[in-house]
This record gives sequence, C-alpha cells and structure tokens, in this order.
Amino acid sequence: MGRKQFKAESKRLLDLMVNSIYTHREIFLRELISNASDAIDKIYYKTLTDDSLTFDKDDYFIKINIDKENRLLKISDTGIGMTKEELDDNLGVIAKSGSLAFKKENELKDGHDIIGQFGVGFYSAFMVADEVTVMSKAFGSDEAYKWESNGIEGYTIEPCQKETIGTDIILKIKENTEDEKFDDYLEEYRLQSIIKKYSDFIRYPIKMDVTER
Ligand code: ADP
Ligand code: MG
Repeated sequence: MGRKQFKAESKRLLDLMVNSIYTHREIFLRELISNASDAIDKIYYKTLTDDSLTFDKDDYFIKINIDKENRLLKISDTGIGMTKEELDDNLGVIAKSGSLAFKKENELKDGHDIIGQFGVGFYSAFMVADEVTVMSKAFGSDEAYKWESNGIEGYTIEPCQKETIGTDIILKIKENTEDEKFDDYLEEYRLQSIIKKYSDFIRYPIKMDVTER
C-alpha cells in the first residue's frame, strides 16, 4: 500500500496540534494510555464471553519504554490490537468522539485551551513527536502491521514483525526548541508525574522501563 492522505477534517486538527503553541502537550500521554486501557478492556471482555479463553491478570498491562539516545518513547499494550484495515480506518480519520465536538463548538476559537477540554485522542501524539509508528497485531490474527506518519504527509501501512497480540505506539520525540523542552518527555520522573496527574484511575498496571545509553 502506498502513502495515503489524512481525511480533510483530520488534517485540520493535525495542523492545529502540530503548530499551535500549546502548553498542555503533556495530555498526549493521557490519550495514549486511555487508548491502551480501552484496548485491554476489549480483550478482557472477550475472555469473559468466550469460554475457550482464559484470563490471567498478569497478562494485561501497559508498558512505557524510554530510549533517550534515540529520542524514542514507546507505549505498549497487551490489548486487542488492530488489523491492517483497523489501522487504516481508526488512525486515518479523526471523526471520533471528542474530535467531532471539538470541530463543531470551536470553529471560531483558536486551539489554546480546547485541546485540554476534549478527548482529542491519538493525534495528540503529534504534539510531542515528529514521527509516530504504530505496530499492532490483532487478536485472532497472525499478521502484524506497521502504521507510520509524520503527521503532515499522510501515512503508510506495511507488514511488520511482532510476536505478541497488542499494540506498540512509538513516538520520535521532537528536538528542543527555544521555547519548549521536549526532552522532558524522555524523563522518567516527568512521565511519572503526568501519569499520576491524568491516569491514576487506570485499572491496569503501568510499567516503566528506561533503556540507558
Ligand atoms: P477514541 O479513543 O475517542 O475512539 P482515538 O483517536 O484516541 O479516539 O483513537 C481512535 C481509535 O483508534 C480508537 O477508537 C481505537 O479503535 C483505535 N486505537 C487507538 N489506540 C489503540 C490501541 N492502543 N489499541 C487498539 N486500538 C487502538
Ligand atoms: Mg482515545
């Protein structure tokens, strides 16, 4: 599959996120953790409704890996995963819950406080990353796929290697600018405090792991 363009409404929100001087960039982590948690809810629900599946509490968690040297922040989950079609449908459009409300009610305002008020979802990753890679293997599938985008020039989807069911979201954290220190999002204490602030209620363990140089 070649490069695909984002839908028009997605492009608007993306532009806003990538370009606005926005003080609450940190909410990207809340959005990604909430998606991870939703995905685990879905696989957990399957184990409740399908007798052939067993549920082992230890199998379900969210893991955050920091790789400072390569400026990579990875959020992994053991959730339901996405098929190739789901990667295309779910990440190529921004017509999801929060974003629609965002579009209607805030047509005339600028982006400053708005992003914090609505669940802006997955695309908030582009507030801190200039490249986002999603590697996913869906429940019931033996193929894994990789979705990749810089948030501007559309996205690509291609097959990849992934052993376990679930999703890895890999953010290439932006370089520092004069005004903003993106390096903060590669600091364990900073991420811990964001998690404490926004994701305290998440029911699955959130593990943190730092790859030292
Ligand atoms: P929302 O969570 O409001 O639906 P998002 O933009 O946060 O909107 O996510 C869009 C969709 O992408 C989700 O509804 C889900 O289907 C899919 N998705 C995002 N992250 C994951 C994930 N970690 N695992 C499985 N599906 C995901
Ligand atoms: Mg979401």
